[in-house]
Amino acid sequence: MDGPGLVRRVVGGVLAVTVCGALSGFSGGAGRVRPAQVTGRPAVPVVTKIVKGATAPADGRVSWGQRVLQGVGAPGVVGPAGVSPARKAVVTRQRDLCARARCVALTFDDGPMGSTGRLLEILAEHRVRATFFLVGQNVVKDPEMVRREYAAGHEIANHSYTHADLGRAPEAKAVEEVTRTQDAIQQASGMTPVLLRPPYGSTGKRLTALARRMGMAQVLWAVDPLDWEDRDTKAVERRVMASVRPGDVVLMHDIHATTVAAVPRIIDRLAAKGYTFVTVTELFGGKLTPGGKYVQREP
Ligand SMILES: [Zn+2]
Repeated sequence: MDGPGLVRRVVGGVLAVTVCGALSGFSGGAGRVRPAQVTGRPAVPVVTKIVKGATAPADGRVSWGQRVLQGVGAPGVVGPAGVSPARKAVVTRQRDLCARARCVALTFDDGPMGSTGRLLEILAEHRVRATFFLVGQNVVKDPEMVRREYAAGHEIANHSYTHADLGRAPEAKAVEEVTRTQDAIQQASGMTPVLLRPPYGSTGKRLTALARRMGMAQVLWAVDPLDWEDRDTKAVERRVMASVRPGDVVLMHDIHATTVAAVPRIIDRLAAKGYTFVTVTELFGGKLTPGGKYVQREP
């Protein structure tokens, strides 16, 4: 029933992996996938005092990512250090609407590039918020687009600096990829991501440990319409609709005009089925564990 090669959630506890983005050629093995875990933490990206003065390693100062790696961060809590428990509680209470609602998290990878601006218009017209997993080298090319994404209320997240295979990269390379992207996004938008999506879904023990140290959750996906492969607007819509269930994280790419063209119909059809569109952090009610891997919210 699903389209050929369509990835549908977890198979036998292991996420089936497809190549993510236009950079094909590798189909890495994702780690085992665990269901959502429960601890309290901020549900939205939070700007902290660390932001200013901690973003420019070039002039000798230390980046946020490096500070976390040096122990300045807060292990055990997703998100940057310095968030008050009271704020965490408020945010968590407000955001766990998916405990009752039929929620879906639309996620867009590899930008900002190409059709990102058009997608922002569509999402604004439909009053839908989404999550953008950004490639750091694209962030530095178009920081204004990142500011627009964040200002519109979308969640901004980390997808490595060069779309690297973090699961197979040496430790130092993985650290560099993640921290450079954190810093680029912070400089562009003033916020620090708390979510990491490893390109190709490629992760492993080492990357999981790194994400844990950095206070970041790893976000994979439950629905993959393979939009990068055949660039067929109708196929993207059909595959998403055939596969999506409440609680799902849906993977798409805003770098393809053909994908962005499918978004209005996907939104309309999901809305007609009673879906609420949320960011990834909202989907999990702010209950994300550093280093944890997430593909969907369990009923
Ligand atoms: Zn990607």
